[in-house]
Amino acid sequence: LFAGPVDFIKGVVAMEGLPDPDRPEICFAGRSNVGKSSLINALTGRKGIARASNTPGRTQELNFFALGDRAYLVDLPGYGFAKAPVAVVAKWQALQKRYLAGRPNLRRVFALIDARHGIKPVDHETMTLLDRSAVPFQVVVTKADKIGAGALAQTLAQIEAELQKHPAAFPELIVTSSEKGHGIEALRAVIDALTRG
Ligand code: GDP
Repeated sequence: LFAGPVDFIKGVVAMEGLPDPDRPEICFAGRSNVGKSSLINALTGRKGIARASNTPGRTQELNFFALGDRAYLVDLPGYGFAKAPVAVVAKWQALQKRYLAGRPNLRRVFALIDARHGIKPVDHETMTLLDRSAVPFQVVVTKADKIGAGALAQTLAQIEAELQKHPAAFPELIVTSSEKGHGIEALRAVIDALTRG
């Protein structure tokens, strides 16, 4: 799947702009700076295909990438942006909610969590929204190279405990480092299996 072409399709700012739900879709969500752009770049093997989600103008768009003609990968820009005007944030959150709750071809949301920080209240809110919409999600732990094995084990335990509160969550975590390449192949395999048929 990832050996083929990966193309940026469009940035979507309103529900009307969504591409037809004619193929399986997976979505990446997380707080800004969680390492989402780096992860998408590592997965696709294309440096710079996903721009840092805090790039001005990109923050309130759902960014669609096509994996050949088989699947869409959606970059849901970082939640938690203090500087945006209230009205902008409200509009963005409304789009995010409507997208997550109403996208029929959405197979799974990967909820990115920084290995150093674990699950924060804003992550919990998004997970609760996913529970309510019955959208299956799985945690991808990012930047695992940034901390030692003991601290990582602690974060993983915190996340696993937290996930028990979320019926839509997959219990298994995928631990990654975009920097070192850890977990990238495992994540590709999960996406490959999810987007078959
Ligand atoms: P985004 O805002 O979620 O798209 O985050 P970015 O991908 O832009 O990453 C935010 C910062 O974390 C950047 O300085 C990246 O270089 C750094 N980063 C991302 N992934 C990793 C990783 O796996 N390991 C390390 N050490 N740093 C990372």
